[in-house]
Amino acid sequence: MPMIPTVAVPTISIEGSGDRFPVRRIFCVGQNYAQHAREMGSDPDRAPPFFFTKPADAVVATGTTLPFPSRTEDLHHEVELVLALGAGGRDIALADAAATIFGWAVGIDLTRRDLQSEAKKTGRPWDMAKGFDASAPIGPLRLGPPPAAGRIALSIDGALRQSGDLSEMIWNVPEIVATLSTYVMLAPGDLIFTGTPAGVGPVRRGEMLIGSIDGAEPIEIGFAG
Ligand code: MN
Repeated sequence: MPMIPTVAVPTISIEGSGDRFPVRRIFCVGQNYAQHAREMGSDPDRAPPFFFTKPADAVVATGTTLPFPSRTEDLHHEVELVLALGAGGRDIALADAAATIFGWAVGIDLTRRDLQSEAKKTGRPWDMAKGFDASAPIGPLRLGPPPAAGRIALSIDGALRQSGDLSEMIWNVPEIVATLSTYVMLAPGDLIFTGTPAGVGPVRRGEMLIGSIDGAEPIEIGFAG
């Protein structure tokens, strides 16, 4: 038998601790802020939230300089509140959702917008638009459930590009956890990106991004020139 490879479990850092949080799966909510839904050409009614995924090993730590992704000339930033689950379950009740949350962080849902637009037009999957290598930069986890309100923002090379408030989410955190748990059995180690406020736009080679949410450590990443 050839040598069986060792495969590492991806992890993210925990604020104020040397321990790391193991990542099992990454789920993402689409269009969860009204103004962003409008800028993507959708009507922000309360249609049920929809979900897509990224591979667990797409996580990237703060302070990283990334190679510019392949197969895109329209890489977009989407700053998002990320939930990290310490417990799971199926058909989780709204009242029980907060208790599943181990911590939260600021993340950036990097998107190959050109590939996503093409996939939307042709009715093909979003995987290569959303779930590519290093497509999920995430800052250190802060323990406990996230605040229901607070500023969320992203700047590139010091210029503000995205700004919103967590209170503007169409589907709030308990509703997201409860709804997602009707599709899959959630489990410890699962991450959930909860959607982005308006202002998404392109990232270019050589640029530096800072994503922030009040009360959490920012996520800072750069792209090679
Ligand atoms: Mn997103």
